[in-house]
Amino acid sequence: MKDSSGQEKIYDVIIVGGAAAGLTAALYCARRTLHTLVLTKSLGGQAAMTPAIENYPGTKKIAGVDLMLQFQNHAKSYGAQFAYETVTSLTKEKEVFTVKTTTGQYMARAVILAFGLTPRNLEVPGEQGLQGKGVVYCATCDAPLFKGKDVAVVGGTFEALDAALLLARMHCRVTLVHEKDGYPTHKKLFEQVQQNPQIQLRMNSAVVRVEGTQKVEAVVIHGKEAAEEERIPVAGVFVEKGHKIDSAWVGDLVEFDKQKAILISLNNETKTPGLFAAGDVTPLRDKQVVISAGEGAKAALSAYHYLQKQSGKPVLLVDWKHSEE
Ligand SMILES: Cc1cc2nc3c(=O)[nH]c(=O)nc-3n(C[C@H](O)[C@H](O)[C@H](O)COP(=O)(O)OP(=O)(O)OC[C@H]3O[C@@H](n4cnc5c(N)ncnc54)[C@H](O)[C@@H]3O)c2cc1C
Repeated sequence: MKDSSGQEKIYDVIIVGGAAAGLTAALYCARRTLHTLVLTKSLGGQAAMTPAIENYPGTKKIAGVDLMLQFQNHAKSYGAQFAYETVTSLTKEKEVFTVKTTTGQYMARAVILAFGLTPRNLEVPGEQGLQGKGVVYCATCDAPLFKGKDVAVVGGTFEALDAALLLARMHCRVTLVHEKDGYPTHKKLFEQVQQNPQIQLRMNSAVVRVEGTQKVEAVVIHGKEAAEEERIPVAGVFVEKGHKIDSAWVGDLVEFDKQKAILISLNNETKTPGLFAAGDVTPLRDKQVVISAGEGAKAALSAYHYLQKQSGKPVLLVDWKHSEE
């Protein structure tokens, strides 16, 4: 990205991920007048998938997407900039980071990794090409688009059962596909699903492929004990297989734990100076909006301290003073 004089523009901070952690980090960076860019695939991350958050302090009940919009507007009001791009690589040379995306590249003196969790794919033929054309990963966001249609829900999670019931309430005929024979950790919800006449069960079955040209036309499954594949005509496939940390692109600038979470210090530093991480992308035991937000704030302040030290300036230790003495 070049500035008006044709020079490669160097941001103070680039934040990867525009959700609870990244948006809070953006607010804190921007309030410190750091030139801040948020690169994100989408706004709001996991929080945007839930219709009601009831445990964010100060807001008794709010739709996740509304809370995330408030986070973003707050960060923007202090000057944080946003670009909706997927980051694909990160390198550092001579104290400057280069962040490559699917459409361009950006530079910064500090980077905060706040790219959270990514929904698990089916990893079968047809899925990738039909993403957004009937293959979807968020029932809360997309169920209304399939009202009254035939759909499949795939996965062994609480969210899979919840999605099946939600879609049934929307007059869909639902086929629930799961590789095991039940949901032992969600027995009560599974009972509701079993009793719902609009939901057909295909337990012990795996999706083999998704079919369709312009949009989804069918899902093909194979039961463990079935001799042949079964083709089920559907307009939508809701993938509810949980989430994973998709961190391979960060390369060797950080250390990972066994789950591929990015290891950080108490102050959100990674092993590379100037590179910080926050939120669900780190090995947090409890994954909550308020926790990711707090971690985002910590990472931002650590980035600020780092940049101040790099430029030989004094470090201001509190955030509630309006001007530096
Ligand atoms: C269905 C559901 C309900 C929940 N309900 C609650 C609740 O009621 N209360 C609560 O406190 N918590 C709840 N949580 C948990 C909470 O939403 C998460 O812990 C929190 O949102 C994590 O925020 P995060 O910013 O760390 O990561 P995420 O929310 O995972 O956000 C990651 C961001 O990074 C972006 N991204 C990912 N990869 C890239 C890339 N390569 N390039 C650019 N951008 C990228 C994504 O688009 C996203 O914007 C819920 C989660 C789910 C899934």
